[in-house]
Amino acid sequence: MRVLEVFDSLQGEGVWAGVPMTFVRLAGCNAPLAGLGCVRWCDTPQSWDPESGSEVEVEELAAQLRLPRVCLTGGEPLLQAEATARFSQLLEERGIALHLETNGTAALPAEVPFAWVTVSPKPPSYEVDPSFHARIDELKLVVDGEFAPEIGERLEAEFPQAAISIQPEAAGGEDMVHSAVDMVLSHPRWRLSLQLHKLLGLP
Ligand code: SF4
Repeated sequence: MRVLEVFDSLQGEGVWAGVPMTFVRLAGCNAPLAGLGCVRWCDTPQSWDPESGSEVEVEELAAQLRLPRVCLTGGEPLLQAEATARFSQLLEERGIALHLETNGTAALPAEVPFAWVTVSPKPPSYEVDPSFHARIDELKLVVDGEFAPEIGERLEAEFPQAAISIQPEAAGGEDMVHSAVDMVLSHPRWRLSLQLHKLLGLP
């Protein structure tokens, strides 16, 4: 598995904010080639190159983990679906819950029992691969200049089981925060997600 970094921290975003997790950031992202708009504000561009980081044996990595929850992120982690499936199997054997953070454009492997699936659909289309149907626990929607409440409403109707986390884009300043708050106030099932780890100066 090509891994950019592994670190313990608090989950800073969404439903699990404040919960300790080990973050495993995989190398490689399809957003630049797919023309996704998140490349404008991505806070981990160092993850885009599939050759970044180093090759790690999943068995060795799984044996080193000490927290009860792992967040697999990227880049786009599902570009390494085979290694992800093996990793999830090893974590399951150790009783460690595996959370996934994905942009939702690559297929979700049917056999991988993720404990939590967070999909953050990206502009301009905000499309989600059909393999995710009924398997999304949380939609994380970033409020940038392009996001509109109608997009969230469409996704909410498509994935009614998912929690909806509305997150102002970090570099967007007060305008984005106010837009996000207004959206949550007019959609009471939605909730505001702030990047707690950034506020606390955590990795
Ligand atoms: S999908 Fe994620 S890692 Fe890739 S460019 Fe977009 S925000 Fe960055």
